[in-house]
Amino acid sequence: MRALITGGAGFIGSHLADALLARGDSIILLDNLSTGRLENIEHLRQRDDVEFVLGSILNADLMDDVMSRVDVCFHLAAAVGVQLIVDKPLESLATNIRGSEIVFEKAHKHGTKVLVTSTSEIYGKNTSDKLGEEDDRILGSPLKSRWSYSEAKAIEEILAYTYWRQKGLPTVIVRLFNTVGPRQTGHYGMVIPRFVGQAIKGDAITVYGDGQQTRCFCFVGDVVQGLLALMDHPEASGRAYNLGGVEEVSMEQLATRIVDLVGSSSKVRFVPYDEAYEEGFEDMQRRVPDTTRARELVGFEPKVGLDEILQMVVEDQRR
Ligand code: UDP
Repeated sequence: MRALITGGAGFIGSHLADALLARGDSIILLDNLSTGRLENIEHLRQRDDVEFVLGSILNADLMDDVMSRVDVCFHLAAAVGVQLIVDKPLESLATNIRGSEIVFEKAHKHGTKVLVTSTSEIYGKNTSDKLGEEDDRILGSPLKSRWSYSEAKAIEEILAYTYWRQKGLPTVIVRLFNTVGPRQTGHYGMVIPRFVGQAIKGDAITVYGDGQQTRCFCFVGDVVQGLLALMDHPEASGRAYNLGGVEEVSMEQLATRIVDLVGSSSKVRFVPYDEAYEEGFEDMQRRVPDTTRARELVGFEPKVGLDEILQMVVEDQRR
């Protein structure tokens, strides 16, 4: 099989590339290197079964060309990271809405199956125990950047779903919950690489708000296995699937665990949200996925626990 990965030089895209190659597929990696990094795919660039294309999903002619040459497309390219969304709202909207529209349009033209990575941000402020795919979305004003991101990804999901329902294009929607592991950078706000970097340097650990907000982190390798299985499954199309971890941890607990693991002298510093992001910023207090649907269809089961993930991230950053 020949697969296109949009966002192929990104954190998740590059791990997906490794997994596709390991099972014998060939790949085209498209990335505009806005947040993706060449060093993530440096080890792949001399291979005959890898083609790297520098470009944007907003370039319709380019998308037409790459889509015409593959069997399937993993559409991962997106403006991601709360910090980036807050800092560059217009660019983020264009990438996440117009870019995705171009991807689906070209996929339809060439009959290419698409798996699109959406996000747990879809659920907004819904803090219920175990968010299921059919659960309600609870959002703040769309004029707040964070919720505009949730809106944009929702439109992307509707596009994917409608292309399937109305035009018969096979599309699979995957909602990722806090995916972490080596190669992820803290530049766009992601908490684990930030805390690990701060702990290694001995800087203060910047816990936002009161630190009682919780997340369930999932190892990128487990997520990648889920993506492959969902792309491969003939009955996955036309639905959304949560992929995420099981262990719920507060940001204050996370900071302490990372400081202990690194053996760091760093102290925790609580930073108000207004200072960390922007005036009036609203966080999600809790985000716990229900991954029953993916487990039942393709046997999705996260295998790597948080301590092991943290260990890998520490080693990656030390390198
Ligand atoms: N966070 C934090 N300190 C940081 C960066 C993030 O306390 O330096 C918090 C953030 O406010 C959120 C959690 O960590 O409550 C996870 O943030 P991340 O951006 O990694 O993911 P998301 O907000 O999308 O869940």
